[in-house]
Amino acid sequence: MSDFLSHRQQLFYNHLAQTSDFPLALEIEKAEGIYLYGKGEKKYVDMISGIAVSNVGHRHPKVLEAIRQQLDKYLHLMVYGEYIETPQVRLVQALVKTLQVKNNDNVPKLDNVYFTNSGAEAVEGAMKLAKRYTRRHEIISCYNAYHGSTQGALSLAGAEFFKRNFRPLLPDIKHITHGRIEDLEKITNHTAAVIIEVISGEAGVRVPTREYHQALRQRCIETGTLLIFDEIQTGFGRTGSFWAFEQYGVRPDVLLCAKGMGGGMPIGAFIASQEVMSVFKNNPILGHITTFGGHPVSCAASLATLEVIWEGMGYGGKGDTLTVKEKGELIKKTLIHPKIKEIRGEGLMLAVEFESFDALKPIIDRAIENGVITDWFLFCDNSMRLAPPLIISESQILTACNVILEAID
Ligand code: PLP
Repeated sequence: MSDFLSHRQQLFYNHLAQTSDFPLALEIEKAEGIYLYGKGEKKYVDMISGIAVSNVGHRHPKVLEAIRQQLDKYLHLMVYGEYIETPQVRLVQALVKTLQVKNNDNVPKLDNVYFTNSGAEAVEGAMKLAKRYTRRHEIISCYNAYHGSTQGALSLAGAEFFKRNFRPLLPDIKHITHGRIEDLEKITNHTAAVIIEVISGEAGVRVPTREYHQALRQRCIETGTLLIFDEIQTGFGRTGSFWAFEQYGVRPDVLLCAKGMGGGMPIGAFIASQEVMSVFKNNPILGHITTFGGHPVSCAASLATLEVIWEGMGYGGKGDTLTVKEKGELIKKTLIHPKIKEIRGEGLMLAVEFESFDALKPIIDRAIENGVITDWFLFCDNSMRLAPPLIISESQILTACNVILEAID
């Protein structure tokens, strides 16, 4: 390791487990709103929100206040589901309210919430739930999908490259192409569940048609298959509605959330009807256990986050000056350059496509040097990820877009 590395850099490279040889390795001292501050007050606009997490911005005052209040009451009390903990029950009440979508689709209400610590754990719990409820074991996911890195969630990943050297993984996993109606035939009455993102994130933000989701919903009803929407990236306002599925006129049997849900604290959930969830109560009793899932401080932070998004973004009350949809449209209108081939996405979940990874990489590096952090996607390396905090203002969007345009030039 070079002599020129600072002590902190040496600790980072030598003792913090690395998963690539080229981490960003930015040293951040403070974060506030849409900004990250490095050494010497170097300021970055966070245009990726720690990968779709900081939807309400960093250190939102209402989130901090909720955390402080909970710190004065209690931290961990007991493993999940035994005691009545106020932060948990207040959060389920608010979550269930966001899910009271009027629909005549006969799909049971999503009114029963199981809290986890992370997205992957929500995926794991939902897979177990589907197997236990349907008594089937085949699960279908999408090519180029990412649902987490634990072994069950990894089994769903739609790219062999990520899985090959970790086999054996779960058997009976099949894949379909996201958005391709013809592939829905692969869902049969042997399929326990289809787990799918409403808008496919790591494939480079692919937005399917309304017809696709309606046909998928119908096929799952016909075959008795549970439809699991992974809204771990798309939920909590990211795409312009509180949940992305609202834009498609369909509801899942099981809903997954995490990431933006905690306002910067770790929390996730899988949500289903009481009837589906009740299978965890017997044969075996305690069908899914977690010690820290639904940690009271995370739940308090999550409720504050939910309220900020619900009220402040105009879903449940008065809105910001621009809606999340309008902010996304502003980015699309502003990022115009001959080297940009396409901008895909909904709301503030966007992919800006370039010719190749080699064309994009120096642009991302240059933009970071000039104070704007972007990124690419696990399964789409010619596209730039844009997922800023939803609180970003019109003028902040224009400033960040100008830095990106300058970096392209
Ligand atoms: N599902 C989706 C769609 C994701 O984007 C991610 C993480 O990127 C996960 C699941 C896994 O979440 P976590 O990293 O919290 O385990």
